[in-house]
Amino acid sequence: MRYSKYPFKTRKTIGRDLQSKNARLLTQAGFIHQEVAGVYNFLPLGLRVLKKISDIVREEMDATGAQELLLSSLQNKENWQKTDRWNSFNALFKVKSRFDTEYALGPTHEEVIVPMVKQFVSSYKDLPFYLYQIQTKFRDEPRAKSGILRGREFLMKDLYSFHTDEKDFNNYYDKMKKAYMNVFKRCGLNAILTEASGGAFSKLSHEFQVITENGEDEIIYCPGGDFSSNAEISPVKEGKQCDLGHGPLEKAKTIEVGNIFPLKTRFSDAFGFTYKNEKGQDVPIIMGCYGIGITRLMGAIVEVYNDEKGIVWLSSVSPYAAHLVTINKQQSTNNKAGDVYNKLQKAGIEVLYDDRDDVSAGEKFADCDLIGIPVRLVVSDRTQGKIEWKKRTGDKTELLSVNEVLNRLRQTML
Ligand code: ATP
Ligand code: MG
Repeated sequence: MRYSKYPFKTRKTIGRDLQSKNARLLTQAGFIHQEVAGVYNFLPLGLRVLKKISDIVREEMDATGAQELLLSSLQNKENWQKTDRWNSFNALFKVKSRFDTEYALGPTHEEVIVPMVKQFVSSYKDLPFYLYQIQTKFRDEPRAKSGILRGREFLMKDLYSFHTDEKDFNNYYDKMKKAYMNVFKRCGLNAILTEASGGAFSKLSHEFQVITENGEDEIIYCPGGDFSSNAEISPVKEGKQCDLGHGPLEKAKTIEVGNIFPLKTRFSDAFGFTYKNEKGQDVPIIMGCYGIGITRLMGAIVEVYNDEKGIVWLSSVSPYAAHLVTINKQQSTNNKAGDVYNKLQKAGIEVLYDDRDDVSAGEKFADCDLIGIPVRLVVSDRTQGKIEWKKRTGDKTELLSVNEVLNRLRQTML
């Protein structure tokens, strides 16, 4: 992409109502734009990051045997009444049509998926199966001060699993714990598997918590890695010795990037969702649900990976693999940079090309640091036919040929 053609250039000043670090940095760098409090537009750079994250999530969900679908956002009120959540789900947005029909605007999708799959399942032979989607959710959040960490409209991956019995459910639940850890690791985050309240469904659920100073949650955890509990339900306090001798438990502020729940028969019972076992008896179906906040994950990555100059993307989630900059007093330099751009594009490498000719080198470099792409490539009158390579995380520069640049970038894509 030629940056001269990008409508959403970096900004020096942004609205004062953007209090969180993620919203400030992402807005300044041209990734997102606030529509109203808690609601954001994702601009082309931001959408690229969401796609990178979503693709990682898709790969890991598909690897568990799950299948992707897309469910409706306008949801049947009657089904929310059947689960007793029409009035008790506090953050539910309700939409009234001009013909007086009322809908729930989907904050989650048990009320859609359960009555739907019920029409297709009759026997134990139809089970188990796992369905997920990546879709916009709506929640009327009371506080929305954490940027894209807490939106009133946000992107979530939600997966629902359907089983004949607890044992089969437990196997899949464990598989999902691993799949979730893979997702967060590939996004560069060290997520801590944390015991949390199961809400209305069961005693416990499991959250995936990332330590950052700006987190809204709090965990009590063992730095040795064998215990973590949401502070809301923790049976122990910080300072208590870890049973396995890892020293005192610590308390930390965290962001909940994912949450998985045993649903047992909470929703099957509400909809009379059963299957016939081998003896022909009707048995309730056991369910699990598994969420990852895709937009929250993007915000969490920015909260963890930034410095005083801007965002610092990891290559797995970066909008582009390289940020090519031309510093052009001479036309020949511009031509050379254009050649490099074409060559990289042809090789399938995603490049952001700052081809502007009315902006100083200093400003272009500051933009590179703010936008945060992992590799900066400079072609200038002084690079003598070569390309200057610099990582976002370092100061060292090297002069390389186009082929050397290509090879190195291919390495980062592996
Ligand atoms: P929270 O406690 O932060 O309000 P939750 O526990 O109500 O979230 P879940 O129903 O567990 O949320 O949703 C699954 C995942 O979706 C969460 O782990 C989180 O990553 C994400 N998520 C939930 N609410 C929001 C929101 N308002 N904005 C962005 N992401 C969200
Ligand atoms: Mg949760």
